[in-house]
Amino acid sequence: MPYLNDMPLEARIALLNRRDADKTAQGIVKPALALMTQKIALVSSFGADSAVLLHMVAQIAPRTPVLFIETMKLFRATSSYQKQLANHLGLENVNHISPDPRRVFLQDTEGLLHQSNTDACCTLRKVEPLQQALSPFSAWITGRKRHESATRADLAIWKADAARRLKLNPLTHWSKHDIVAYFETHNIPRHPLIEKGYPSIGCAPCTYRAPPGMNASAGHWAGQSKTECGIHLPVEPRNT
Ligand code: SF4
Repeated sequence: MPYLNDMPLEARIALLNRRDADKTAQGIVKPALALMTQKIALVSSFGADSAVLLHMVAQIAPRTPVLFIETMKLFRATSSYQKQLANHLGLENVNHISPDPRRVFLQDTEGLLHQSNTDACCTLRKVEPLQQALSPFSAWITGRKRHESATRADLAIWKADAARRLKLNPLTHWSKHDIVAYFETHNIPRHPLIEKGYPSIGCAPCTYRAPPGMNASAGHWAGQSKTECGIHLPVEPRNT
């Protein structure tokens, strides 16, 4: 639909959401990759559920840019899993996104900012590096799902980000059962920390074991009201 690019962003998003409402995740991802070749990136933490979208993208277009945010605070197991999974799936364009070392030295000299100000730490190590990495792209894909937290309960398939890029969430309707079934059907290796009780896997200092059945947000920033790192902060509606 080439004329899509001529439409105001909000109208384009409304149209895409209507068009894709009843499609499978693969049915949503495939035309998006075809239409926006090399202008759309998959942003992945290589965490607990990440392999589902990584597998879909690898099956459809393995040269699709994958942006892996290496915060320098990840579990060692995540770094190993990232390499293993990328090889296993045949991903050909994984880009490691890291925080600016000079800014880390100035703002988090001791590496303990997460203990005093998690929002500032996430901004430094995740939000700013990702914003910079996304600058050449007009759209990105995320693995967010509605069941993960109350703040994601009404998550749309297509949204806009703060820079007014398209953001595609093809797994919005997926349940935990759907995720497990996909891993089993396609014989995809799981992150090694899952069997150790981590429902969702991010940075080591801020990720916790949680009782079975708890949603993903229960495994992060224990004792804080924070449920999002900031890369998915909502966008204020704007007229175009
Ligand atoms: Fe820092 Fe924790 Fe955010 Fe990672 S999750 S960037 S360690 S505050």
